[in-house]
Amino acid sequence: MADIIKLLPDHVANQIAAGEVVQRPASVVKELLENAIDAGATLIKLIVKDGGKALIQVVDNGQGMSETDARLSFERHATSKISNAQDLFNLQTKGFRGEALASIAAIAHVDMLTRTEDYEVGTHLKIEGSKVVSQDIVATPKGTSIAVKNLFFNIPARRNFLKSNQVELRHITDEFHRVALVHPAIEFHFYNNGTELFNLPKANERQRISHVFGGKMTERLVPVGEDTEVVKISGFVCKPEFAKKSRGEQFFFANHRFIKSPYLHHAVVSAFEGLIKPDVFPGYFLYLEVDPKSIDINIHPTKTEVKFDDEHTLYAILRSTVKHSLGQFNVAPVLDFEHDPNLDTPYAYKEKDAVLPGVTVDAGFNPFKESVKAPKSSSPVQKQSVKGWETLYQGLEMDEMAAFSSLEIESETEVQGSIYGDAEVETPSGITFQLQRKFVVSTIKSGLLLVHQNRAHERVLFEKFLGEITVKEGISQQLLFPLEVSFSKQDLEILKEVKDSLYNVGFAFENLDQETVKVTGVPVLVSESGIGTVLDRLIADYKEGYEVSVLSQAELIAKTLSKNLAIKTGEILDNESQLALVHDLFGCKEPTLSPSHKKTYTIISDGDIEKKLN
Ligand code: ADP
Ligand code: MG
Repeated sequence: MADIIKLLPDHVANQIAAGEVVQRPASVVKELLENAIDAGATLIKLIVKDGGKALIQVVDNGQGMSETDARLSFERHATSKISNAQDLFNLQTKGFRGEALASIAAIAHVDMLTRTEDYEVGTHLKIEGSKVVSQDIVATPKGTSIAVKNLFFNIPARRNFLKSNQVELRHITDEFHRVALVHPAIEFHFYNNGTELFNLPKANERQRISHVFGGKMTERLVPVGEDTEVVKISGFVCKPEFAKKSRGEQFFFANHRFIKSPYLHHAVVSAFEGLIKPDVFPGYFLYLEVDPKSIDINIHPTKTEVKFDDEHTLYAILRSTVKHSLGQFNVAPVLDFEHDPNLDTPYAYKEKDAVLPGVTVDAGFNPFKESVKAPKSSSPVQKQSVKGWETLYQGLEMDEMAAFSSLEIESETEVQGSIYGDAEVETPSGITFQLQRKFVVSTIKSGLLLVHQNRAHERVLFEKFLGEITVKEGISQQLLFPLEVSFSKQDLEILKEVKDSLYNVGFAFENLDQETVKVTGVPVLVSESGIGTVLDRLIADYKEGYEVSVLSQAELIAKTLSKNLAIKTGEILDNESQLALVHDLFGCKEPTLSPSHKKTYTIISDGDIEKKLN
């Protein structure tokens, strides 16, 4: 057989390398910003058009390049940052692989202007798909400007794979944050389609964080500091009450480089143990400095995953440092998670040792009379305070308890088709009671109906909000005193994107162009104290949802609102509310499933019951 192995031409090799380095416009942003920082810039401008698909430009006032260097910089493995393998163990720069520019130039149209201090004129270089199109001498300020246009012009598959402009812009903003947060001494400007999104003057770390995330951040930060032989730690964690459902404000920097580390993340989360609920994430901005010899940054082309020599020690130090700060700044006692005790199962209870419910028999006990009257509200289903939790099982024999819990398990497996079709015939009896603060039980002709209170109410609210968004008739409750809520620039952009849908469900805003937005009206179901939380979650879900799902904006908002406002498991419902819930559920278009596709109710038929008794 003839020889068949060939060396790949450079432009093909570059294109392959680009697949690793450049996943999306945000990757280009990261590489260009890092190059500008490595060049010693004190002022960096980032200019983006159409989520980076049309243009990504980074302009810096750094050291610039000579004519020869300008040409060489686009060659693969061409770098000024290391010259031998030993240098890898003492890295002071972001870049060192000499791959980024070569990769970018292989899959885009690149326009570079650059000049060093020693020359009066600079170099203008145009490269398209690894081919030099032109090279001229130009008058240009000291520093470098690199414009990347038509990303993936020669790889349609990659181009088609890109998400909407807004989503790509979000990724770019994330990268921008990661770089800007760890270089507060550098001034940054970030423009998108002609508007300035960020103007970050030279600052210290704390100021930079609040310039990026909004003034509200300042009061949330608790400083963290420790200096040991293994690591120097500085930065901030956010107070536990500001922990969020979504990830986003978690930043580790190792030797001035943003890194991802699930292991160290765990260390921080575990320091918050007992202070936050298990399903939320604490915010943190932690700057680690370690001996460059003890860290390997070379394990991944984008250099965000790193390996530390002594991760276990690092974990322990980090955990105790954060714990110490939280204690020192007296953060520990603040346990007012939601400001609204109605929103969840009584958390404090989880902390207590499990105590068996009392077994005193109350002869006069009647589950149908046991409900507590809830105050009237405009809500179709009233919420009831979680007080009296302990009394719930009082009067039930242990055997009954056991029977009840097994009932719950069985019920999950015995779900049948819709009763909606026969709802006319099978109207619930009007007698209801609550089981384990989780189900509303009623009887229908053919058996026992168990309605999952949380999922059912989610369904009811979901259809209500969806209807309101589409027909624009949500009832707004005007606030006597408008509430000021501050948002980061990025979150504000999202709020603007979804504002019409929010108006339709009853929200009203003023000052939507400023960091501090005035909320002047809310849907009737939203309590004043819950406004901030609901909006935060909406934004968070929107950020995530838009990426992964094909839901429409209306569906997404209706889903988030219903999820956040629905009656929770653990809430006591009075009789009226139980009935209203059952009634509303079977008035829904799709009563069988919650918006998250979980079953909302089950029926245990007479036959099933008979069988059990045999
Ligand atoms: P690396 O950063 O890993 O060295 P790059 O492909 O990103 O590789 O850049 C190649 C070289 O081009 C760098 O080593 C640097 O010398 C030069 N260079 C790139 N961007 C700039 C810039 N903005 N200012 C000055 N020099 C730059
Ligand atoms: Mg580089």
